Amino acid sequence: MTLTLELPKWYDLHTHFRQDELLPATVKEHMAMACAGALAMPNLKPPLTQPEHIKAYRQEILDTAEGAFQDVIVPLYLNAETTAKTIEDGARDGILQACKYYPPHGTTGSEFGAPFQTYIDNGVFEAMEATGVVLCVHGEEHGLSGERYFARGENAEEIFYREHMPSLIERFPALRVVGEHLTTKVGVDFILKAPEHVKASVTPQHLLYTIGHLIQGLKYHLFCMPVVKFEEDRTALQQAVTSPDNTKFFAGTDSAPHTHKTTPCGCAAGCFTGGIAPQLYAQGFEAAGVDLSSDTGKQAFQNFLCEIGRAFYALPEPESTFRLRRSPQTVEPLHIGEEKIIPLPLGIGRGDGESSTTIPWSLL
Ligand SMILES: [Zn+2]
Repeated sequence: MTLTLELPKWYDLHTHFRQDELLPATVKEHMAMACAGALAMPNLKPPLTQPEHIKAYRQEILDTAEGAFQDVIVPLYLNAETTAKTIEDGARDGILQACKYYPPHGTTGSEFGAPFQTYIDNGVFEAMEATGVVLCVHGEEHGLSGERYFARGENAEEIFYREHMPSLIERFPALRVVGEHLTTKVGVDFILKAPEHVKASVTPQHLLYTIGHLIQGLKYHLFCMPVVKFEEDRTALQQAVTSPDNTKFFAGTDSAPHTHKTTPCGCAAGCFTGGIAPQLYAQGFEAAGVDLSSDTGKQAFQNFLCEIGRAFYALPEPESTFRLRRSPQTVEPLHIGEEKIIPLPLGIGRGDGESSTTIPWSLL
């Protein structure tokens, strides 16, 4: 019999819905993959730097989902103008539940970010600690030269987790932190040793692929920030998310729609996994050797996808379930007007100009 998993609806705790004509398209794909809601990133144009901005954007997402989402969190985009008072006022109103740290110029739409030390010095992290507002961290050191940016044993994420994160949690011991889209063994080891209120999100692509997949044929649809790493890093991530004892690692796809992935001087960062993330996560668990037909395997998967992150962010329990089946599904481009967005793993196969591909799991 074909394996079918019945699961509670889940929250994607890191995604990019963007704005304008992309918003209804991306929200629809998240509804299609049984999301009860999401944590939607604030790196819009202009960035969402005030509590009233995140309030309006959150409402826009909820309206677009037409009742399909039970809740949405939009983090505040931390920047040089953010003050402790902004945090205290936003938290008091209940609208501010999280803030996003972007390394300056570290990834798409991160040019408004200020260096990490800024928020240590100006009282912002202290105010977040006092009010229970979660710090969502894009944990990569900024402004590195190429040699230090990416090498074996030293890269932007490893440097960040070695040089900034230990002193952060030492100085603000009650600060609630999420290391977002974790990619390295160094990051995994840090999260495992950190206090229980320090957690991490993991994307499907970082469970499934390594740097070899990206550079063999320069599969730019797999280019995201932080970039996929080495086999030992992927193994550490797979072990962390699939462990029956996992209480810290949860699903956050970092799905990001790009209608123009390549640019005149490079490539936009971000992989699109809207519509297919639970399927890819299931594939990732199987790649890690988990038997999803076993009770322990299914429980570990449900913890990761549906429970740990939802509980951490105190999001409402989903009112309904969905079913994931181990039978192939076709993946095709998402058309938005004249433009198209290529979801993973379409765009990283060996063929040129593929118009579709299949993945081993499907949604019922
Ligand atoms: Zn992101």
